Amino acid sequence: MELGAALDLIAAVPDFPEPGVLFRDLSPLFGSAAAFATVVDALGDTLAQDVDLLAAVEARGFLLAAALGYARGLGVALVRKPGKLPSVDGRIDYELEYGTETLELPSATVRQGQRVAVIDDVLATGGTAAAACALLHKVGAVVSGVSVVLEIDGLGGRARQPGVPVHALRMV
Ligand code: 5GP
Repeated sequence: MELGAALDLIAAVPDFPEPGVLFRDLSPLFGSAAAFATVVDALGDTLAQDVDLLAAVEARGFLLAAALGYARGLGVALVRKPGKLPSVDGRIDYELEYGTETLELPSATVRQGQRVAVIDDVLATGGTAAAACALLHKVGAVVSGVSVVLEIDGLGGRARQPGVPVHALRMV
């Protein structure tokens, strides 16, 4: 399947999860074997040559990074919401539009000096990706890039990743 056709499966859902928000729903894309394979391959093309490990942001980042890691022979560090991991190497709180969120990095997964690519489905304000990068930097990893399926235009997400190449398969 062509990449454009695969990305066209992503639905735009008004007023979810709250009024005024246009939510991009990747479920139909994940549900199509052809579209999923196309998108995973395209994300793979965005990876730096010398990447050692993928860091996947919960939860849809897990799906993408798991498939990509298997295809490319790379392991996956699961960057998780709080309280899911028995032992963590780092924790970071970051601001959302309303309230705060926390991400945690599992212990004994990312080694100092490793080159790590962050994988997620959507880059919106960029706070989540920036938090994942900060966690990786804290343990001495090098962030080789942030790769996402969709980037929401006009929210400043890319600008919040200074010095880190950001790759999006489509800007909406
Ligand atoms: P940010 O921190 O960049 O504002 O938001 C990105 C995070 O929130 C990502 O982990 C992403 O999964 C989720 N997210 C934000 N907006 C959307 C959206 O419209 N659709 C989907 N699927 N996820 C979103």
